Amino acid sequence: MSRSRLLKCPICKKEVRFGDPFMPFCSERCKIIDLGNWAAEKYVISTPIASEEEQPKTEKENDAG
Ligand SMILES: [Zn+2]
Repeated sequence: MSRSRLLKCPICKKEVRFGDPFMPFCSERCKIIDLGNWAAEKYVISTPIASEEEQPKTEKENDAG
């Protein structure tokens, strides 16, 4: 039985050997490319949802004069 752990570079789909210093990328280049993609996503800032929800109080006051 031969166990070969092979990963595939998510960038160029090249086979990456298990234990590679740039895992799961095949090379530093692909790693940088992926980091760049990730950094680009950081620019997308999602607007925080306001947790403070004020409920309008319905006060019924009999102000009969
Ligand atoms: Zn690659």
